[in-house]
Order: sequence, then C-alpha cells, then structure tokens
Amino acid sequence: MHQATSIPVLKFLSLFSLIALFSLCSGCSPVLGDPGAAAKRAEPAEVTLAVIPPVADRGSPARAIVRGLGPDAEIAGVFDGKPVFFFPTKNGHAGLFGADIMIELGEHLLKVAYEADGQTGSFEVPVRVADRDYGTRDIKVPVSQVRLSQADQERAAREKVLTDRALATVSPEKLWKGEFLEPVDASINSSFGRKTRMNGVLSPRPHAGADYLAKEGTPVRAPADGVVILAGDHFFSGKAIYMDHGQGLISMYFHLSEILVKEGDVIRKGQSPIGLVGKTGRVTGAHLHYGVYLNGARIDPSAFRKMTASLED
Ligand SMILES: [Zn+2]
Repeated sequence: MHQATSIPVLKFLSLFSLIALFSLCSGCSPVLGDPGAAAKRAEPAEVTLAVIPPVADRGSPARAIVRGLGPDAEIAGVFDGKPVFFFPTKNGHAGLFGADIMIELGEHLLKVAYEADGQTGSFEVPVRVADRDYGTRDIKVPVSQVRLSQADQERAAREKVLTDRALATVSPEKLWKGEFLEPVDASINSSFGRKTRMNGVLSPRPHAGADYLAKEGTPVRAPADGVVILAGDHFFSGKAIYMDHGQGLISMYFHLSEILVKEGDVIRKGQSPIGLVGKTGRVTGAHLHYGVYLNGARIDPSAFRKMTASLED
C-alpha cells in the first residue's frame, strides 16, 4: 500500500488544532455577503475566502479559494468532518471538497485555518447542500449476483475490507496537476448518481460512478498522475484498479478485462493502457465504470473533471 509520510500529516494536524481553537472564537468568523461572494476577514490582512459554487448539489465537487496569502502559507480545512487540503493556484489557494451523493441535505460547515508569516486566522462558512434528481435506471442481473451464496458473501466481505482501506487513503502530497483526462474515448451511458432498480427492486445506494459505453478491449488511460493502491479481481467490481492522486483523491476503474498495472506503480497522466475495458464482476455488458472519491465523498467524475479544468494550478 502507498503510505502517507508523517511530517506533513503532523503539520496538517497542528492546523487542525488551529481550526478547533478558532472555532471557539466568535469574533473570528468571516463576514458573509451574498452567497458566492467572497467572505472577508476584517483584521489584520485582506485575506478572503470564497466557496464555488456557494450551494453544492449532492454528489458534486466544490472548492474553497483563499486569496491574499503568499505561496508559503499553510492552510487546512474541514468539511463535513473530512479534511480539505489546500494548494497554490495562479488565483489563490484552492481547497477541493465534495458533497457526498448521500450527504444530508442542508447546511454543512466548512472550517478553514491558515498560518502565514507568523499570522494566523480562520474562517467558518456554512455551505448549503441541495438535492439533485439524477434519475433511476432499471437493470437485470443473474439472481446469483443479487442473492449471494455463503462463499460469495464471504468473498465480498473480504474484498470490502480492502476497498474500504484503499478509499480511506489520505496521502498528504498532491500528485496531480491540471485538467483530468477522460479515462476512455467513449460516451457515458449511465451517468453518475442514478438510483438503480435491480431485477425490479430499488437499491438504497445510488450509482457512485460514471459508466462509459466502450467495447471490450478498449484501452483505459490514466486521467492524472497517481499511484496504484489496489488492483484485483472483485466479486462486484470485477477486475478493478484504485489509484491515489494524493490529498484524499482516489479514482477507480471497474469491470476491466485486463489489469495492466500493479499495486505501487507510479502512473503518469495520459498513460495508456492501464487496463482494458471488459465485463467482469456484476455487469450487464462491457463498459468502464469510473469513480472518483474525494476524501470519502462520492462525486460526479464529469463534474470533477470540469472543475479541474478551471483551477489554473
Ligand atoms: Zn457503474
């Protein structure tokens, strides 16, 4: 497994304690104007925080932009109890976070603390999460893939331990840069967030990725730099690759016919093929299931790609 180094984590933790400290200080909250307008700190420096978009849909990525700090500033945030990492861009420091596809609707606090040139400060901003109807799809799969045998249940449970661990990876360094690429040259058939009626029964879990209609054998490319943290053949996902892009950003590629990378491999943006499209696992036909998790939040990969295109990092 790809291991996080300890020193940046310690630094990050100290900023977390800053957040805890400042959240007790009522005078430290930013002045909020219209939703989407920059929040302003009155004293002593002109440091501002903006949240884009000000209202996040369930399953959407969002970003916080801190302006007015030098490139060496240390900034850390928390959204919905999950860490938000900041990195310098041409237009301030950006911190990406996601509203999970099943996050509770309503207001969630974004807390941000910073330290620059001996100066510290913090913001606390409510971010409203709105519902979005992604629609419902009907699929039919063999009964053996819905009512699992004892052996399959045990196998799926073992694999869940591995995938949960991969999805919880938070390595402190941001490994990617610039716009994410599409993982295959194909159209998306079942978009992210749809509820699934499987053999007539509505699943409580919405579809947490984007399905690309691509023929078996189509090469899959890496959308960004990263490290392979899990590669294996799983009951539900079939042959699957999990890639860590740093700072809690994980991408995954399911139902492959071939995995052409291994755990620990350092992957470059555009590297192809990392695998081939297939129909392994619980599927109705060949396609690529592509998922993006941001610090545990299941977000729309297409919306995330669009956001990376506008970052100027
Ligand atoms: Zn899928």
